[in-house]
Amino acid sequence: MYLKQIISVRFFNMNNSNHSNILIIGGGCAGISVATRLKSLKSDLSISIIEPSEKSLYQAAWTLVGAGAYDVNSTIKPMSSVMPNYVNWIKEYAESFSPESNSVKTSGGEYSYDYLVVCPGLKINFDGVAGLKETLGKNNVCTNYSSDMAVYTWECLKNLQGGNLLFTEPPMPIKCAGAPQKIAYLAADHLKKKGALKDSNLEFLCAKPVIFGVPHFQGPLNEICDSYGIKRSFQHNLISVNGDAKEAVFKQSDKDGNSKEVTKKFDFIHVTPPQTSPDFIKNSPLADAGGWVDVDHKEGTLRHTKYENIYSLGDVMNAPNAKTGAAVRKQTPIVAHNIIKDINKSSEAYRLYDGYGACPLTVAYGKVMLAEFCYGGKVTPSLPFDPTKPSSLYWQMKSKLFPWLQWNVMFKGKEWSKPNHKAIEN
Ligand SMILES: Cc1cc2nc3c(=O)[nH]c(=O)nc-3n(C[C@H](O)[C@H](O)[C@H](O)COP(=O)(O)OP(=O)(O)OC[C@H]3O[C@@H](n4cnc5c(N)ncnc54)[C@H](O)[C@@H]3O)c2cc1C
Repeated sequence: MYLKQIISVRFFNMNNSNHSNILIIGGGCAGISVATRLKSLKSDLSISIIEPSEKSLYQAAWTLVGAGAYDVNSTIKPMSSVMPNYVNWIKEYAESFSPESNSVKTSGGEYSYDYLVVCPGLKINFDGVAGLKETLGKNNVCTNYSSDMAVYTWECLKNLQGGNLLFTEPPMPIKCAGAPQKIAYLAADHLKKKGALKDSNLEFLCAKPVIFGVPHFQGPLNEICDSYGIKRSFQHNLISVNGDAKEAVFKQSDKDGNSKEVTKKFDFIHVTPPQTSPDFIKNSPLADAGGWVDVDHKEGTLRHTKYENIYSLGDVMNAPNAKTGAAVRKQTPIVAHNIIKDINKSSEAYRLYDGYGACPLTVAYGKVMLAEFCYGGKVTPSLPFDPTKPSSLYWQMKSKLFPWLQWNVMFKGKEWSKPNHKAIEN
């Protein structure tokens, strides 16, 4: 089955301009990082990136933008400024895959490869909530899941004098599972600072049955909610929003599988839209039953389970880690190492991903609880402090160090730290 692949991998085709040793789909957080890392390990590689966008984004700061604590312009750079000059930038959309013949069709042509790296992120499904698209950006209906909408979140909060505030979280997986509640804490702290918290009812409604997936942080986060008076409503999944009527409808499920519709009135609602794999991935031979790129996450090589010369990382693949830039930071050197090992046929060991992810929970202005964890809910703090204690140092890291890490470490092909996480006792 691998014969064709093996033949073309063995004989790198250097003459065809549509052929690259490495073809990367998506020039986001993962794509630029993995391109630069690969080049730093093997300088003679030809690398192409299929990336239609002219903008490179630092999405993790949109939570702060929504709270008026970060300039949205600092989260966006021209793609041309981060795209390395040795990369052949194909400004097109990837559309379909022919893994048996090592090629990808795009909106403008067809490209072949020796190795393919698939990292086009995920799809924010604004259509997944009835009425959302029509009312988003009006009627105090906002989301931090796009840069312009995050600006609108702050516009709403700035002008709010209290009332009913709802914060929603859809079923997992989503990017940064903590982001739906981070904005609730910042909104509460903002209202507290202007003396309006006592005139407000804040409610966090999420599809899952607990506040956060990693048990170690559940107690401390529930205490933070209590300190602001934020009500938690679990197993509530937003299904429609009517901005003019200021009403949101949720499907409330119980543990026996029964469900009913519940309508809530709001003066402000922050919506985290449902998220899926991109359609062109879902409909491809690379996808698992859930639509995500099917990689070897059990051993941890991040290689495709069926196609030996395809790897994937970032939000689009099916490892059960938290979909975060922090995870991409750890996955990148692993994928790059494993591809170079394959190319060189070296006897070195594969590097293996342990599920590391991090979620800086902005529990107040100037304070962050930094949740770092690996598979199985193992808590793996990088610094020797109690990670459940909110700290101003972590706020500085979230607002200054982490953006710098993306632009200057990950995007320059450097490795920040080796993935050797020691779990603390839960
Ligand atoms: C509100 C919010 C808060 C967050 N907070 C944090 C946080 O605190 N900490 C943290 O670590 N992470 C956080 N994240 C998550 C982090 O931003 C993502 O996990 C990370 O960007 C994933 O990288 P990626 O390369 O997989 O996807 P992306 O960075 O989204 O890049 C995907 C790229 O693929 C391109 N693309 C899409 N379709 C195609 C196609 N058909 N063909 C070719 N290219 C295509 C896109 O244009 C894009 O450039 C947050 C995200 C959001 C939205």
